Amino acid sequence: MNDVMIRLENVTYEYKSYIDDSILTAVNNVSLEVKKGEFLVILGHNGSGKSTMAKMMNGLILPTKGDIYVMGKNTKDEENIWEIRSKAGMVFQNPDNQLVATIVEEDVAFGPENLGIPPAEIRKRVDEALELVEMSEYKKHAPHLLSGGQKQRVAIAGILAMKPDCIIFDEPTAMLDPNGRLEVMNTIKKLNKEEGKTIILITHYMDEAVEADRIMVMSQGEIVLQGTPREVFSQVDRVKELGLDVPQVTELVYELRKEGIDIRNDVLNVEELVDILC
Ligand code: ADP
Ligand code: MG
Repeated sequence: MNDVMIRLENVTYEYKSYIDDSILTAVNNVSLEVKKGEFLVILGHNGSGKSTMAKMMNGLILPTKGDIYVMGKNTKDEENIWEIRSKAGMVFQNPDNQLVATIVEEDVAFGPENLGIPPAEIRKRVDEALELVEMSEYKKHAPHLLSGGQKQRVAIAGILAMKPDCIIFDEPTAMLDPNGRLEVMNTIKKLNKEEGKTIILITHYMDEAVEADRIMVMSQGEIVLQGTPREVFSQVDRVKELGLDVPQVTELVYELRKEGIDIRNDVLNVEELVDILC
């Protein structure tokens, strides 16, 4: 019980159209548990309900039906909401929309200021957070002059300054160039492996998904497939049926197997494939 970070119990979310009162079910009766320290990746084609689920996980929106508990606290209880938002921080796709101040350090201080943290403690947190995302030397810089990857790392520092146990990332690398993607993924991995943060990462990059402890695939508001990266990506046909790609190496192995070459079907990275082929 105590090792659960976030629990969803039969959660449904419905959007009501402003125009004709019609209802769209974005998340349909989902139950799941995210363990403390886990690195969970959520995959799914556009419109499958990933962002809606992410926003419910830190109390930005409330379920239409069912309950969500963040470290045992129901997101429906208004008195819990600030604690939930600081314990389960969220990083979005567009870094420009998340940076509010004109200097990096002010930006990082914004969250803890809102939490009413004393100034000396805020300064300490800002320094620690910038250190963790390797942006200390940009403390006095203007955010709008940074690269996409740097901006996103400052946004992550802003969340870290609230001392979260969990960070929910909604396609954090979607707007970045390959270099920026790598910087942000390295930061995310470090926060999980070295700082013990629980990570929920929504992405459509399969090379990012292979880093997870567990993958969940959503389709039409439901979780339709889940398991370790090996378990999920060894089901190439199923994954493709759900409108997703598989990692390049997995694709290559799939093609080789189709040609009758006897290789195990759960290879995830180049090093493994090289080992096997040699
Ligand atoms: P994903 O992040 O997987 O692309 P979303 O959670 O954004 O999926 O959307 C799930 C479904 O809910 C989609 O059909 C989408 O069109 C709909 N939807 C999302 N946001 C809204 C909204 N603000 N109003 C009405 N419908 C929405
Ligand atoms: Mg989305």
